[in-house]
Amino acid sequence: MSDFDVDLFVIGGGSGGVRAARIAAGHGARVMLAEEFRMGGTCVVRGCIPKKLLVYAARFQDAFEDAAGFGWSVPAPQFDWPALIAAKDREIARLEGLYTTGQVNAGVTVVKSRAVFEDAHTLRLVSDGSRIRARHVLIATGGRPDMPAIPGIERAISSNEALDLKHLPKRILIAGAGYIALEFAGIFAGLGSEVTVIYRGDKVLRGFDEDLRDALTEAYRRRGIKFIFNDVVERLEAAPDADAGVVAVTLGGERLAVDQVMFAIGRSPNTAGLGLEAAGVVTGKRGAVKVDARSQSSVPHIYAVGDVTDRVNLTPVAIREGHAFADSVFGGKPWQVEHADIATAVFSTPEIGTVGLSEEQARARYRVVDIYKTDFRPLKATLSGSQDRMLMKLVVDGESDRVLGVHILGEDAGEMAQLLGIAVKARLTKAQFDETMAVHPTAAEELVTMRSRTARYQRTEPVAAI
Ligand SMILES: Cc1cc2nc3c(=O)[nH]c(=O)nc-3n(C[C@H](O)[C@H](O)[C@H](O)COP(=O)(O)OP(=O)(O)OC[C@H]3O[C@@H](n4cnc5c(N)ncnc54)[C@H](O)[C@@H]3O)c2cc1C
Repeated sequence: MSDFDVDLFVIGGGSGGVRAARIAAGHGARVMLAEEFRMGGTCVVRGCIPKKLLVYAARFQDAFEDAAGFGWSVPAPQFDWPALIAAKDREIARLEGLYTTGQVNAGVTVVKSRAVFEDAHTLRLVSDGSRIRARHVLIATGGRPDMPAIPGIERAISSNEALDLKHLPKRILIAGAGYIALEFAGIFAGLGSEVTVIYRGDKVLRGFDEDLRDALTEAYRRRGIKFIFNDVVERLEAAPDADAGVVAVTLGGERLAVDQVMFAIGRSPNTAGLGLEAAGVVTGKRGAVKVDARSQSSVPHIYAVGDVTDRVNLTPVAIREGHAFADSVFGGKPWQVEHADIATAVFSTPEIGTVGLSEEQARARYRVVDIYKTDFRPLKATLSGSQDRMLMKLVVDGESDRVLGVHILGEDAGEMAQLLGIAVKARLTKAQFDETMAVHPTAAEELVTMRSRTARYQRTEPVAAI
């Protein structure tokens, strides 16, 4: 008889948790998974999926405008926010059901409860106080939005609530300039809100290639989105007129009257109140569970995957970390996730797709860096009259000719990034890009037809180890 009720207890039914639970159960482990909110986690319920559905909705505005250039006359379109939110909710409920069924069919026991550690092998289910003894534990509790401790913060929302608002705000102030802030700025602007983005720094999308950062800011300005840089919201006051929403007072002295204020200033690992001290699990910056390359924590039988470890906070990464953990610990097939060269998208409008090193990162690490860049008006814009442009940039190691990074702004950039991820991961060279025949007429063909170097950067001082 085993001393343990289960071989694996998974805390959190999000991207990482459900994959790990299903794979471990497939390897014959007795698995229990606890989810305190809704199965599917952030990505399915309050992240990637509902957000992308809203992005699709917002982009119809462009489609209606573009249509006229192609001979269509379209009556003034009307938009119904509650109808969109209801449709989105139906789809999320369907997916949530699929996630639960997938677990149950795999043999996982799913419990709808918050779970907390009592000690390193014991989890307490908060719903009924029962205790489960587990041989292994996987912490997959994800992250939560940061909200600043400023007066009036209860008047503001985070991305969680932005997806469920009762009404579309006429005017919205979004604090932050990371990908979530900019995606929501694009959504609200597309749906007809007046959008202002306020950010303490002087440029959006820290960590992305500088050309992309500048080009997206310009594109957003052309679409009427206002930016306030080098300033922060200091307090939120009720507007004098009860219907007029909120007044955001900034450190720089601005008073911005809006209907809604949203903070998207970052996310922190979800470890508060989890009982990690009782289990002896060591945490690091902002409460992230400290793990090694195998996702093992400071306690050998306790692992953590996904956003709670604050490595690369993206769904496919959490899924793969969960899969690697389950194969390694329960399937006798140890493997590790490589966190380099992860292709990613920002679903702004226009969209960003990117993989590999930015120009700045490459120039810090390589002796010779070649840049190939093109900025053009896509074919569709010639008739639609759209002012949007397309930016494409290759960052190449001037010595080995390897393509180190690809950065795109424009329609379908995310789709292109997925495929370019293979090329960059496979360490292909610029010459191999050039040998690849173009698909004509597409925007992506520019990626294999950029013959002339835009710039070469050479350095003589030693470079950081690659
Ligand atoms: C607005 C937004 C948009 C995003 N867009 C994208 C995108 O386009 N592409 C992309 O790749 N990523 C995107 N992400 C990031 C992505 O959602 C996360 O990286 C991913 O969900 C992380 O998965 P996870 O398993 O680590 O955690 P989560 O998916 O957050 O799941 C954690 C789960 O644990 C539960 N939980 C927490 N504590 C407990 C407890 N004590 N007991 C029981 N249950 C608990 C939570 O309720 C939650 O369901 C987005 C995130 C946000 C917020």
